Amino acid sequence: MTGLRVDNVVVRYGGAHPVTAVDGVSLTVAPGETVALLGPSGCGKSSLLGAVVGIVDVDAGQVVWDDEDVTDVEVHRRGFGLVFQDGQLFPHRSVARNISFGLEMQRLPATDKRARVLELLELVGLDGLGDRPVTDLSGGQRQRVALARSLAPQPRLLALDEPLSALDADLRGRLAIEVRDILAAAGTAALVVTHDPAEAEVMATRVLRMRDGRLA
Ligand code: ADP
Ligand code: MG
Repeated sequence: MTGLRVDNVVVRYGGAHPVTAVDGVSLTVAPGETVALLGPSGCGKSSLLGAVVGIVDVDAGQVVWDDEDVTDVEVHRRGFGLVFQDGQLFPHRSVARNISFGLEMQRLPATDKRARVLELLELVGLDGLGDRPVTDLSGGQRQRVALARSLAPQPRLLALDEPLSALDADLRGRLAIEVRDILAAAGTAALVVTHDPAEAEVMATRVLRMRDGRLA
């Protein structure tokens, strides 16, 4: 098992003002490792993350998992998960039904699904809150639901795009430690984007700095 390998990836956007958002980036994430991508706004972090998970088109280069080229494999077949800044929960679903959403594509027996949801509630420290509407949760709790939902289908890699940026500073510090511990407990490889050096230091085993579409 070699995990993720990004090989000379280029992402360009066309239109009236063409831009090369990612300009030949190569990196690796070993199984179980958390790597942070740190850089200022506009340096291409989200574009690179999008290219890895498959929601952004790659103009050159390769995205490889365990020696399999997945550059042209569709999003849902890569086995990668994605957590956004604002969580993007389903407002009309309970906590448990948000978490089980990720399992609905997998044909699991209902009892296995329920067990997996309970396991995740415990992992993210939300035991007993499965029936709550997500609209009743704090920002920090909502991000923990988003994390649990992404981890539910056991992705081989989790991509997190500024997962704590929508939270206030005090909570961010504490949740960064929690996210690190949750990823370690789940054993999931992760690529986490942030513009906050302290957050990167806390969450990641390795920090890569990005500037103007390249790794510095
Ligand atoms: P970051 O996540 O580091 O803030 P982005 O990857 O969002 O950086 O953006 C990198 C560059 O690509 C910026 O110049 C941004 O304006 C541009 N960009 C991002 N998304 C698009 C898009 N969908 N269409 C055109 N340009 C884009
Ligand atoms: Mg971004």
